[in-house]
Amino acid sequence: MSALLQDYAAVVGEDVIDQLLQLAEPLKGKKVVHINSTRVGGGVAEILTKLVPLQRELGMDARWEIIPGQDEFYQCTKLFHNALQGRTAVLSESLKQAYEEANAQCAEEHRALLRDADVVFIHDPQPAALLPHIHDRKGKWIWRCHIDVSHPQRQIWRYLSGFVAGYDASVFSLADFAQMLPHSVYLIPPSIDPLSEKNRELPEKEIRETCELHRIDPDRPMMLQVSRFDRFKDPLGVVQAYYLAKKFIPALQLVLAGGGASDDPEGDAVLAEVQAAVKGDADAHVLFLPPDAHRTVNALQRAALFVLQKSVREGFGLTVAEALWKGKPVIGGNTGGIRLQVVNHHTGFLVDSPEGAALRIRYLLHHPDKLAEMGGKAREFVRDNFLITRQLREYLTLMVALVHGANGRLVLE
Ligand code: UDP
Repeated sequence: MSALLQDYAAVVGEDVIDQLLQLAEPLKGKKVVHINSTRVGGGVAEILTKLVPLQRELGMDARWEIIPGQDEFYQCTKLFHNALQGRTAVLSESLKQAYEEANAQCAEEHRALLRDADVVFIHDPQPAALLPHIHDRKGKWIWRCHIDVSHPQRQIWRYLSGFVAGYDASVFSLADFAQMLPHSVYLIPPSIDPLSEKNRELPEKEIRETCELHRIDPDRPMMLQVSRFDRFKDPLGVVQAYYLAKKFIPALQLVLAGGGASDDPEGDAVLAEVQAAVKGDADAHVLFLPPDAHRTVNALQRAALFVLQKSVREGFGLTVAEALWKGKPVIGGNTGGIRLQVVNHHTGFLVDSPEGAALRIRYLLHHPDKLAEMGGKAREFVRDNFLITRQLREYLTLMVALVHGANGRLVLE
């Protein structure tokens, strides 16, 4: 077993790693390509940063490429993102054209790679239209949807599903999101990497210093939300909940830490609204972090007494798993992938409004024993369900089933 796999074995157990090695055996040397739209910022980039090296470690020839785009392409894909998560949006012909052209160009650039790959994972809508350009593809193509498509705007879904229908399989994060498609649909939730800079243990000194650097008092209660500045993450709802709770707990501090993703054109406007909402409050910190501030996010999650993720739509919410892994209960929006992770009253609380969040904030601040008990459960819940080794295992079985077809089924019988 390689040194890297030994490191994972120390967290999840040697049997788990041995199982991965066994499952990966029939995939040795297979060409696997992942395509998404950004290398930094957001959950997909976060996962691929670790998943691709691990697939290589298990013997696959795994690669990760990006679909590049210009302004109109990102406007279009942000519109897809919003419309698929239920917002009303109108797709103009010129945005559609920008989308299709960016896909055509990317297909041209990576033609040989995409044609010869044994398995291609296309992440989210941005590169979904690559498929029709690779007429002579040899491998299996999987559309991996990370967003909450439980109530998509029908017109936009109809347009996109025209591309997705041609894939060999789709993967959604949970059953609520699964759509009718003319191929097999799999449910595989995302995961976090316990060994990444974002999640590994940190010295107490570094946690304190990170707080001090950002003028957060490490000796007073602090609650945190880490998110891109996106309306679906409801940062203004968090601010509202904070002020409702702060009336009763004046020592309370709030940190809203976020950054931009290079494929998200709306971040600046949302950030400005959040800054305006807390203006003049020395206990409310809005931190705009660079995309590689993983240790800072890690330290803030560890410094927080508990964490919020008050999203109104959420594909999964890696930030929830990250906080739970650090033993922090999460007060989360009662939506999408947060429901998979926040087991109400056990690993945190599900809330439907800023008022509900404020109530739970006050509860946790007044019940330190319960907070500690929930924190312990939270960590074990992630160990059992949301570490990268579990996601890798599910991808491996999916790939074996697709690549080996009938053989895969024979083994199962
Ligand atoms: N993240 C970060 N810095 C930020 C904001 C987010 O490193 O300023 C990370 C966060 O820790 C998590 C990922 O980006 O790992 C966000 O994933 P999530 O699934 O929570 O949301 P998405 O952005 O994909 O909607």
